Amino acid sequence: MTQLSLAYIFQHQKLLVDENFQLPKVEKLASDLPIHQNDQVIARDLLEDEAIPEGYQLIPIRELIQSWSSSDFLQASRAVQLLEWRRNHKFCSHCGHATEVHAKEYAMVCPACAYHQYPRVQPCIITIITKGDNEVLLAKSAHNKSNMYGLIAGFVEVGETLEEAVQREAFEEVGLKLKNIRYMSSQPWPFPSNLMIAFHAEYESGDIQLQLEEISDAQFFKFDQLPEIPFKGSIAHNMIMQMIDSKTVA
Ligand SMILES: [Zn+2]
Repeated sequence: MTQLSLAYIFQHQKLLVDENFQLPKVEKLASDLPIHQNDQVIARDLLEDEAIPEGYQLIPIRELIQSWSSSDFLQASRAVQLLEWRRNHKFCSHCGHATEVHAKEYAMVCPACAYHQYPRVQPCIITIITKGDNEVLLAKSAHNKSNMYGLIAGFVEVGETLEEAVQREAFEEVGLKLKNIRYMSSQPWPFPSNLMIAFHAEYESGDIQLQLEEISDAQFFKFDQLPEIPFKGSIAHNMIMQMIDSKTVA
């Protein structure tokens, strides 16, 4: 009997699940990407013109995060990022020749010039800025129509340390200087391929000045008077909850 593999079948950022949000089990194809070495978990692209199997549906992974455990989320995140990487590296970025999938490692290899393209993650800092014992800075994105207030975040630039990125983003987006910058945790965030690196920092000086292209409002909120915050499962939500718990217990 053929052994079936648990399959992460994605159409871009949407995952194929049954009506109970369970993954399908499939016979492995040569074109599948193994997610575990034993082939028991694979990832596969569902093309736009392929039919959705009966009893199944495509759900955006953003919506699934809230009901998943963090290990489920990490595995799905790995699957979607590897598929995206494979889809975007069909040609050699050095000489333009069509690439081939490496037999043993995650690499797209150019048969003409031997250039290897590996999956890359984009480091992205996210900072929870506190003032005193019971206030947190939350900012509303100018790109988002909702009323949700999140944390200051942005990509790390070439040649910059993580702490410099934290200071630069806070100064650019809200005009504040920070002190006591400390690492908290990290989370892969597959939209499309970021590694969110979380920091806590304390307010040092400055008045809030918004970078209007990015931020439509930012304020220090008291812990017991928070506005709408990012959804459960997001690193921002965890950071805010962790901060409130630690300050309340202390
Ligand atoms: Zn090449």
